[in-house]
Amino acid sequence: MRRFDLALPRTVNDCLKILATPNGDTKLVAGGTDLLPQLKNGLLKPVRVVDLSRVSALRTVRKAPGGALRIGAGVTARALELDQRVRSAYPSLAEGAALVGSVQIRNLATVGGNLCNAAPSADMAPPLLALEADAVIAGPGGQRTVPLAEFFLGVRRTVVGPDELLVEIVVPPAGRGSGGNYLRHTPRRELDIAVVGVASQITIANGVCVKARIALAAVAPTPVRATAAEEALTGQALTPELIDRAAQLAVDAARPISDQRGSADFRRHLVRVLTRRTLTTAHERAVAAR
Ligand SMILES: Cc1cc2nc3c(=O)[nH]c(=O)nc-3n(C[C@H](O)[C@H](O)[C@H](O)COP(=O)(O)OP(=O)(O)OC[C@H]3O[C@@H](n4cnc5c(N)ncnc54)[C@H](O)[C@@H]3O)c2cc1C
Repeated sequence: MRRFDLALPRTVNDCLKILATPNGDTKLVAGGTDLLPQLKNGLLKPVRVVDLSRVSALRTVRKAPGGALRIGAGVTARALELDQRVRSAYPSLAEGAALVGSVQIRNLATVGGNLCNAAPSADMAPPLLALEADAVIAGPGGQRTVPLAEFFLGVRRTVVGPDELLVEIVVPPAGRGSGGNYLRHTPRRELDIAVVGVASQITIANGVCVKARIALAAVAPTPVRATAAEEALTGQALTPELIDRAAQLAVDAARPISDQRGSADFRRHLVRVLTRRTLTTAHERAVAAR
């Protein structure tokens, strides 16, 4: 690995001050589970690395007035997987977090790192997209809030600028009658990344679906919402036939590639199957949450 300067700030303001001081190429590191392999294989050669692991303000999960859950960017996948508030109100997020790597990886891997690394296969992105979460980004001019739907620009590219950092993810209250589910397919059972991942979030009132959100991973350069499928479900009583139709519409939102991990056709098939399964489970959970 090439040598670099290491900064160890303790506050968000100190991070921002460091980022504001030009010093060639600077990279932030949280858990390091994405960044360190990229440093070791020479993909990245930063001059300076800013370690966020001592910034305690990034590691809190708190319920805000109004019921939203504010998750610090430095909260680990393991903490989210085990958090009772997440497990009960946002099971799809707990499921996405629980699928990241191994326990050892999840004890380091942060939600902020998962989103900012912007891999198409990131497991925490689809649940957060389907939950309509916002990203809070701090920069020299203060904080700005960006809907997660506008956060990803491409593979490993986000709206977070070089002098900014992601500080929080804000998840709106799930509310009564709302249920979600995240599933992914991997060729190996452990330590593999998604060939396809699907998160569904359904809200039911008076027996009718009043809101549906479906987000897909690993079938486009960024995680994507299947909006035509969502619209097909809205205002309808959910039946297996309608769920099948929505699953077919979700396939149309996918733009998969063929690679050594799966062909485009196989990925389309997986979108259909996983959308059907996640919608069915999300619907059951929504009915139970009335
Ligand atoms: C063996 C192994 C298995 C894995 N399995 C999975 C898996 O199953 N599913 C999955 O989704 N991922 C998986 N990963 C990838 C990785 O663990 C996750 O993406 C993890 O959440 C990254 O978090 P981190 O804190 O380690 O990020 P880091 O490596 O510290 O950072 C990742 C990127 O985000 C940037 N960054 C980090 N925090 C911030 C911030 N607050 N603001 C701005 N930029 C920031 C960094 O500069 C870097 O570019 C795996 C990795 C390994 C090594």
